[in-house]
Amino acid sequence: MDQNIVIAAYLLVAGLFVYGLKMMAHYRTARRGNFVSAIGMAIAIVFTLLARDDSGVWAVSGKDGWTFVIIAAVIGSGVGLFLAVTVRMTGMPQMVAMFNGFGGLASALVVFSECFKHWGARGDSDPVHMSVAIGISTLIGWVTFWGSLVAFARLQEFLLSGRPTLFKFQKIVNFAALGAVILLIVLWGMFPAAKLLIIPIAVIASALGVMFTIPIGGADMPVIISLLNSYSGLAACATGFVLKNPGLIIAGSLVGSSGIVLTRIMCIGMNRSLVNVLFGGVGAIVVAPGGGAGGDKRVTSWTAEDAAMCLEDSSLVFIVPGYGMAVAQAQHAVKELSDLLEERGVQVKFGIHEVAGRMPGHMNVLLAEAEVPYEKLCDRSETNSELDRADAVIVLGANDVVNPAARHDKGSPIYGMPILDVDKARTVMVMKRTLNPGFAGIDNELFYQDNTAMVFGDGKKTISDIIAVLRQ
Ligand code: NDP
Repeated sequence: MDQNIVIAAYLLVAGLFVYGLKMMAHYRTARRGNFVSAIGMAIAIVFTLLARDDSGVWAVSGKDGWTFVIIAAVIGSGVGLFLAVTVRMTGMPQMVAMFNGFGGLASALVVFSECFKHWGARGDSDPVHMSVAIGISTLIGWVTFWGSLVAFARLQEFLLSGRPTLFKFQKIVNFAALGAVILLIVLWGMFPAAKLLIIPIAVIASALGVMFTIPIGGADMPVIISLLNSYSGLAACATGFVLKNPGLIIAGSLVGSSGIVLTRIMCIGMNRSLVNVLFGGVGAIVVAPGGGAGGDKRVTSWTAEDAAMCLEDSSLVFIVPGYGMAVAQAQHAVKELSDLLEERGVQVKFGIHEVAGRMPGHMNVLLAEAEVPYEKLCDRSETNSELDRADAVIVLGANDVVNPAARHDKGSPIYGMPILDVDKARTVMVMKRTLNPGFAGIDNELFYQDNTAMVFGDGKKTISDIIAVLRQ
């Protein structure tokens, strides 16, 4: 296919990606935005497969070439479809981590093949450009892949707990490794024929991916996932320069830049600088004073009937959802409770913390699925400005994002993270199964405050029980 037609198709694809991203910024249009971007990606794949490069070589040629592409496409689509249908909402963060990782791996493998198979055969005029671009793509690709595997293991609590893994001279070793790999890329730029340099670059980059990610504790996972997302885009962008493929350069830059914006939003949500997240080693498990979660401290325990009575007597109620709402799949029950209370003249609002749940926008997605009107969702600052006049707050499966220790306990791993100040409301009802800590592994002093009542049980069951009492 003529190069100009392919470039025109890539421009159309770029437009679809940008338009899709814009639509994803609003919950009403987010699904359509996803669809528009997917169409863009499908067009990009078709035109890439049918393209010829400057020297007239087809991207895919011969029966063998097409057989290979078709087999790979069927396997890839099958796995994607299977995961899309089977992965539960609570498993999404791990899946996103793996997506990022495979994005980085794909870039690293493509440039590896380009390095030994096509480079030279295509008579590239600028070997310095090629060696440096391949070096950068290899570095970012392998860092992304291994970093994402560590993030996956931490989120899944498979082999790794939420606690940061620290070792002596970690920062020095990391910076020395980063310096060495940059030196190798510069050397390769000076001696482009030394293609075997790709091997030590890949090995050191893989080690860096692990070493940079293991000191990052569970509590900082939102930042690291967004950052790895951005890296996967940057790796694709560098690969686009290697392949001289404008479509890949545009798509990679969009992922890279939107990932950085998301990383910044997550850092603001946790009141941490990126440097502090990457090198702070924060997120260690702290045992509650008094021994264990809660130890010998006392809490007030309420039944669903007590909670229903309190809600009926309220004028303004805030519902603050967290990861436990996702686990319990309580969003539809919550919507029903909110409607029921509103019918009885109680004003209901939802307080959303930006790092609640296990992925950016987690709570927004769940509540949108249950058709909770977007106008009812208040961001952190809006919620905090109203909490002191709320009669009751339902904290549903949220824990770290409402822990008052973040405000005053300098020794706490979450000290400085902005929280939802639910303790300022007249009554706080915390609905969860036990007194166990949340993702950061720390005890929550909210549970023991005088205006807090614990309603123990599965989130969905508790809310359904309250609805049943209210309907009686
Ligand atoms: P937390 O992880 O702090 O707490 C969730 C709570 O939900 C647990 O304490 C658990 O208590 C409770 N829970 C679990 N299952 C149920 C159930 N079936 N019914 C009722 N409750 C349940 O959640 P938050 O949303 O408050 O905080 C998010 C944490 O995750 C933060 O530390 C954040 O940094 C981190 N994180 C966020 C990401 C993001 O992008 N948003 C990504 C990765 C990590 P119990 O077992 O007693 O029921």
